Amino acid sequence: MPYDYDDQNIFAKILRGEIPNNTVMETEHTLAFNDIHAQAPVHVLVIPKGPYVTYDHFALAASEAEIVDFTRVCGRICAAAGIQPGEGGQGYRTISNAGEAAVQEVPHYHLHILAGRPLGRMLQKVG
Ligand code: AMP
Repeated sequence: MPYDYDDQNIFAKILRGEIPNNTVMETEHTLAFNDIHAQAPVHVLVIPKGPYVTYDHFALAASEAEIVDFTRVCGRICAAAGIQPGEGGQGYRTISNAGEAAVQEVPHYHLHILAGRPLGRMLQKVG
C-alpha cells in the first residue's frame, strides 16, 4: 500500500511555521531541531522537508539530493555536538521508529540523534 502522508502531523506544522521549534540546523531539504522531551543531554530530531512517513519511504522515494542533504546534516550535527567517537567524543545513537511495532508517534520521517550520557544497550527485552 502506498504511504498516505498526513499533512496535519506536528512536524508538518513545524515545517510550515505554524508551531515553533528549537532549530539546530536548516538546509534546503532538511530541518533539525531539539526534541521537546529530550531523553539525553543531546536529543536532536532530523527531518526531511519533503512529505515522507518513514525511513523506508524516504530511502525509496526521496531524490538523491534530499538523501545526501539529510545525511550530511546528520554528520554535521554529530561534528558540531562533539559526539563523534572517532574524534574524541563519547558516541551517540541514532533511532528511527517506523510504524506500530516501533511505536512511531509522529508520522513524518525523523531520525533521533541521542548522546551525552551512557545510553545502555540498544533494546530492552519486553513482555
Ligand atoms: P517517535 O516516537 O519516534 O515518533 O518520536 C517523536 C518525537 O517527537 C518524540 O521524542 C517527541 O518528544 C518529539 N516531539 C513531539 N512534538 C514535538 C515538538 N513540537 N517539538 C519537538 N519535538 C517534538
